[in-house]
Amino acid sequence: MSKKENMIEELEELQKRAEAELVSLNSEANLQRWKTAYLGHSSALMQVFKRLPEAPLEMRPEVGQHANQVKAALETHFESRSMEIRQAALQQNLQQEKQDVTLPGRVPPCGRLHITTVVLREIYRIFAEMGFQVYRSPEVESDVNNFELLNIPAHHPARDLWDTFFIKTEGVVLRTHTSPGQIRAMREFAPEPIRVVLPGMCYRYEQTDASHEFQFNQVELLAVGKRITFANLKGTLEEFAQRMYGEGVRTRIRPSYFPFVEPGGEMDVECFVCGGKGCPVCKRRGWLEILGCGMVHPVVLRNGGYDPEVYSGFAAGMGPERITMLRYRIDDIRNFWANDVRFLEQF
Ligand SMILES: [Zn+2]
Repeated sequence: MSKKENMIEELEELQKRAEAELVSLNSEANLQRWKTAYLGHSSALMQVFKRLPEAPLEMRPEVGQHANQVKAALETHFESRSMEIRQAALQQNLQQEKQDVTLPGRVPPCGRLHITTVVLREIYRIFAEMGFQVYRSPEVESDVNNFELLNIPAHHPARDLWDTFFIKTEGVVLRTHTSPGQIRAMREFAPEPIRVVLPGMCYRYEQTDASHEFQFNQVELLAVGKRITFANLKGTLEEFAQRMYGEGVRTRIRPSYFPFVEPGGEMDVECFVCGGKGCPVCKRRGWLEILGCGMVHPVVLRNGGYDPEVYSGFAAGMGPERITMLRYRIDDIRNFWANDVRFLEQF
């Protein structure tokens, strides 16, 4: 056997051995050792390249070419084996860290509407079904709209009913009730008939306690048109009570005084906690006062732009916080704006 054939045989042996070994490897570390052993600087294969210049001239091309082929084959096999091992490791990882997707996840905390907003929207919905639209008016009002045009002139003793926040600009107040919205709505729509719900925040200069807060919401109702009678007022409010407090709930209207209505009244509903028998919520009376109401005073109608000889109207007002307090037996109105999440999260 010639020296050339010897060297070629040597290369073939080398390739066979290297490939057989490569197949049995199964870790990244072993793979690197293999690479050093068969393709590294001091590997047998590299020795062949180093020895090549010493070989007889006529055998160099063939041996060199063969050595190059072996080197290329080993490199290719190394790459593909390397890929296989990495894939296998990844698969194994995935198996071990497999997540149980059927486990219930952690529910992220989610915001919600303020309970007063929820009750307000319930009220809007009920009155919307009876043809009333929401009409918004400013929380900062003129003294004229808040009092005078509502039949409460300056120095009238009825002004004592509303402890008022005055601001530095003279003649401007934080509205004490939503009633100035009546004037605004009437002046906007007169002489057309009106059916509106007037909601929003009101402010009173109050000493706060469990049942008094210096800011609170009101919802007011106003209907103006021809031939509107007290029977319409009673029918509308009774229908509201049935939808808000449950079908069959009894109601009653007692006479009361508000300067902007004549006659004026207050409506009670049968206590929905005890059904009228008497309990701590209704203070043993069996009835809960829920709203004030009355026929729009002729002076107010005229101030709104309607001729009281031709037009009439009714109005009613209620406090959504009070309704909420009764419904959920909340004993302190200050909870509503204290911004304590423990309170707000309950609804
Ligand atoms: Zn009761």
